[in-house]
Amino acid sequence: MPDTKDTLPGFETLAVRAGQQRTAECEHAEPIFPTSSYVFESAADAAARFSGERPGNIYSRFTNPTVRTFEQRLAALEGGERCVATASGMSAIYATCAGLLQSGDHVVSSRSIFGSTTLLFTNFLHKFGIETTFVAQDDLSGWEGAIRPETRLLFLETPSNPLTEVADIAALADLAHTHKCLLVVDNCFCTPALQRPLSLGADIVIHSATKYLDGQGRCMGGAVVGREDVVGEGVYGFLRTCGPTMSPFNAWVFLKGLETLSIRMQAHCVSAQLLADWLQDQPAVSRVYYPGLASHPQHELATRQQSGFGGIVAFDLKGGQEAAWKLIDATRICSITANLGDTKTTITHPATTTHGRLTPQQREEAGISDGLVRVAVGLESVDDLRADLARGL
Ligand SMILES: *Cc1c(COP(=O)(O)O)cnc(C)c1O
Repeated sequence: MPDTKDTLPGFETLAVRAGQQRTAECEHAEPIFPTSSYVFESAADAAARFSGERPGNIYSRFTNPTVRTFEQRLAALEGGERCVATASGMSAIYATCAGLLQSGDHVVSSRSIFGSTTLLFTNFLHKFGIETTFVAQDDLSGWEGAIRPETRLLFLETPSNPLTEVADIAALADLAHTHKCLLVVDNCFCTPALQRPLSLGADIVIHSATKYLDGQGRCMGGAVVGREDVVGEGVYGFLRTCGPTMSPFNAWVFLKGLETLSIRMQAHCVSAQLLADWLQDQPAVSRVYYPGLASHPQHELATRQQSGFGGIVAFDLKGGQEAAWKLIDATRICSITANLGDTKTTITHPATTTHGRLTPQQREEAGISDGLVRVAVGLESVDDLRADLARGL
């Protein structure tokens, strides 16, 4: 593809076409390569490929053509030099930490991150001598105060789950670089269709491809995107040896997901905004969390940093847990499940599911009230979704 500035392809073009290399069969759609290994022309060829003297596939734990097409397409969409695909979003985060950190290193992380990521930091990295300090997402001086000489990574998600707190990526990137740290952003909620953290100064973008990149709730996968010297060496080096590799079938599903990512994300944003506006007017609702509302504390930052506000809406019910469960149980369209980023709308009670393992005090600190409900708005008709929620309000 031409790479001169004036002919640089647009996002939607890259989403449909980047990374594809047609084979001699002249296929139009991307092929799936379900092969664990590759054949060499001769003993000398095998030796040359193993030594790295000659490029080429060796074994699918290292490289696979379908997975590579997905990696190149997502790298193009995030504006990164290199992408490494992984078996899940969690293995993307683990491969990043295991590939780039060593015993004695320190991480500063937002408190408002995915539950399994918190457990990875506190229970597992801790075992290998890597400590993590958790800070409030929106408190820049808190981030700065937590940085130590041995800090290597700053980690966050924006917007956060489930309260949609927005972090200032550019400000945190500056802070990270002043202290010779890398800024890692889990871009799961926005995807590159709405937010490109690398262009704001972040060093690494993480994805759970399981969510919006697939977009239809089918496959598990993840990805790490960033510079060649960081992701290509540190993260890929870990992956090819330790093996949390993406399967070619899943890579093919995600490739097809990327082709419709932009229009799906736009539709998720439109429906989520309509639902958030409507929820704000409901007497049973005390507060709505959605970055697209003028009442959201970081609405202005979200407007600057994102090209859309995303598909996740959370709201507090005045009636507490009883009201929240009643609302959830009264729905007939929404799926009661903790997953998100699907064409099907999902509804969750965070206090008793995703955040159920926290103590009541930890939940209060995290802002997860007993009356909080999270909706990951899908692509059904908004009228039907409003009616579905109105039933239990
Ligand atoms: C789901 C999720 C993950 C973990 O991804 P898996 O594919 O489930 O391993 C990480 N971060 C965020 C923000 C998520 O929503």
